[in-house]
Amino acid sequence: MSILIYAESADGKFKKVAFELASYAKKVADSLGTNVTAVTVNTDNVSDLSKYGVSKVLIVSNEKLKNFNAKAYADVIKQAAQKESAKLILLSSTTDSLYLAPIVSIGLNAGFASNVIGLPISTSPFQVKRTAFSNKAYNITEIYTDIKILSLAKNSYGIFESETSLTEEAFSPSLNDADFNVKVESVEKASGKVTIADADIVVSGGRGLKGPENWGVLENLAAVLGAATACSKPVSDLGWRPHSEHVGQTGKPVASNLYIALGISGAIQHIAGINSSKVKVVINTDADAPFFKVADYGIVGDALDIVPKLTEKLKEFKAHNS
Ligand SMILES: Cc1cc2nc3c(=O)[nH]c(=O)nc-3n(C[C@H](O)[C@H](O)[C@H](O)COP(=O)(O)OP(=O)(O)OC[C@H]3O[C@@H](n4cnc5c(N)ncnc54)[C@H](O)[C@@H]3O)c2cc1C
Repeated sequence: MSILIYAESADGKFKKVAFELASYAKKVADSLGTNVTAVTVNTDNVSDLSKYGVSKVLIVSNEKLKNFNAKAYADVIKQAAQKESAKLILLSSTTDSLYLAPIVSIGLNAGFASNVIGLPISTSPFQVKRTAFSNKAYNITEIYTDIKILSLAKNSYGIFESETSLTEEAFSPSLNDADFNVKVESVEKASGKVTIADADIVVSGGRGLKGPENWGVLENLAAVLGAATACSKPVSDLGWRPHSEHVGQTGKPVASNLYIALGISGAIQHIAGINSSKVKVVINTDADAPFFKVADYGIVGDALDIVPKLTEKLKEFKAHNS
């Protein structure tokens, strides 16, 4: 069973999820006695994939694909899969793949399982474990189609190096003009240095921080930790922070290693989007705030008082250990 991964990139650089997906694919390929081929669009330094077990990469370079376009990108993946006779197609569970995977699935008459965690449980029948209901439950899904598509939940597997010799091949799929009937005129990018999707650490603020004038406290902590900044929905609705920082069920999902919540109550819609994070730290004045029920570490107190002290301590710690 040959394996194709779609290695996502942004601004010409692979996203972290691409390396996690490659690591996962390598493990699956080893168990099936096959190799991993990747397809990537407008990416520089494709040789990075060799570190994570990819044997061949199909390089698509096309100005028309500069901005993400679900139909056109799905076409690229479909044609790459057909060229490689791939039976297993792997994507990362990102916002892009939410749009892409169903279109590829229809195009290849392939069964699709999203939010997969862990390696396939069995190959006959083909079974995978997935998260469901905003990570509140798991289910075991069986796929019976000849071609199968999985999207891997972020941070569910990890990144593992496995140096492999890599063949690079230019690939020019035929693109359909009809795929470009909708044109992206401009793209507004989040200004933070670390993106929420790629961040190992996310520092997030809620209405408890009282107003945008207090965000320096959060940003200082994020800077010392090399973290991305995020916020609850009301904070972005109020215009205190850009919508690109809104996390939760209706915002961006967060699957970081560490999520620090400052002045966020922990409403179910917020938790739904962040509960894939490994370690959750909460600072809240209200000891009964629901967030404490899902927190690994919690401090009851005023974030505006505690966070500057915490930031100073971390700076001292870094200075002593650098
Ligand atoms: C359909 C739907 C979808 C939604 N989607 C989302 C979503 O995606 N993401 C999201 O975040 N919300 C979402 N919400 C809103 C959600 O229900 C909550 O209203 C929201 O998360 C609350 O934001 P908050 O915790 O910042 O504010 P609040 O609920 O006002 O909580 C502020 C918290 O700060 C604490 N606090 C006050 N002062 C301090 C201080 N000085 N230091 C420390 N703590 C302090 C308070 O004790 C309180 O717990 C959604 C709601 C609906 C109905």
